[in-house]
Amino acid sequence: MTQTNSSSNEHYPTDRPFRFGGNELRYVREAIESGNLFYWPEGRFVTRLIDHIRERFEMPYAVATSSGTSALQVALAAAGVRPGAEVIVPPITDMGTHIAVLRQNAIPVFADVHPHTYNLTPETIERAITDRTQVVLLVHLAGNPADAPAIADLCRRRGLLLIEDAAQAYGAYLHGEHVGTFGDFGCFSLNNSKHISCGEGGFVLTRDKRLYVRAHNHADKFYDRHNSGLWLQELGANFRMTELQGAVALAQMERMEAFTERRGLIGARLIEMLSDTPGILLPESLPGATCSYWFLMFRIDPTVVRVSREELQARLTERRVRCTAGYLHRPSYLEPMFQNKSFFPGGVWPGEVVAGRTYDYREVSCPVAEQVLETAMTLQVHEGQTDQEVQWIGTHVLKVWARAMQDANGVATEVGA
Ligand SMILES: *Cc1c(COP(=O)(O)O)cnc(C)c1O
Repeated sequence: MTQTNSSSNEHYPTDRPFRFGGNELRYVREAIESGNLFYWPEGRFVTRLIDHIRERFEMPYAVATSSGTSALQVALAAAGVRPGAEVIVPPITDMGTHIAVLRQNAIPVFADVHPHTYNLTPETIERAITDRTQVVLLVHLAGNPADAPAIADLCRRRGLLLIEDAAQAYGAYLHGEHVGTFGDFGCFSLNNSKHISCGEGGFVLTRDKRLYVRAHNHADKFYDRHNSGLWLQELGANFRMTELQGAVALAQMERMEAFTERRGLIGARLIEMLSDTPGILLPESLPGATCSYWFLMFRIDPTVVRVSREELQARLTERRVRCTAGYLHRPSYLEPMFQNKSFFPGGVWPGEVVAGRTYDYREVSCPVAEQVLETAMTLQVHEGQTDQEVQWIGTHVLKVWARAMQDANGVATEVGA
């Protein structure tokens, strides 16, 4: 496994071999043997998970949820987002971000991103604010912190709430503060693709006791278990986490640092190897940022590299470098459900009806996000990659690019040679 051998298909791990081990199995067994898989009141693992999370993020309150999408929906509901209110979102994110907004009957309003951090900025957000804006939903893409402190300031000045979507950003810090702790709420995902996972799951962080109780209730049928009980005051949802999820999530949280620090080192090493490579525009991070590389996204400079991304991907794959040509197929607003506003059956969009005005996503344009997605490639990063494998990835990207530059200059080359 550690031997660098370009002719061996076994060289590169197909997935994340060291991901689940040790306490994951032990805790699941304990949960099963306890005879109870419900989190309240005596559920051991969700309770322990919440305590662990509160301590880990130095936040007074946390709510466990069934997914990252439901964590966001719970935060929006707890924040008191009204049907028809506008929520500023980025166009480069997981669909879960938008689902949460739309399921709360609010209106996603797209702001553009920075060309090299791929995140929203205070300037792009400012331009998207209207008198209907209630929330900014800030995504920290691929473990690269957005400017949460400046955006939190902006939100305070403009009377808006800030919800951070840190689903891809475990182990991402700004000046030593973990992302997800700057806003009114921080939301995380525990789905299978994320840095740490229990298959499906998520959680919400907040500093405010009142918001915490609301979030807890919105994830739990609004049963208001902390207070008087069953006089239901609002429409909740069942977004509860089970003890099985809690058991795995707790074991994963215990390993969070090990995973994210390793990813940080790998990402930094690749950036170092690829810096100053003609045709590669590396991602930028803010001063004081620690990135945890959910993956490493960079951009091709098409004025220099005339070889298509698909061709580059094919050449890299041939060298067993795991990568993708692009991240999302398109900015979210270009998806048919936005273009046709076919969110709900029958073509009725309650958010718009309540807002009393029409929104036309065919008129939305975020040119920077479009350029980013047209030129993006991603390299896989995960904690199981050895130093040799990282060296392999960097070396072969450089080789493929050197070839591509020759191609761009009209020199024919043999693919994969
Ligand atoms: C994964 C993800 C979500 C949704 O989380 P799920 O657990 O899949 O529901 C939301 N936002 C971002 C940025 C994500 O990466």
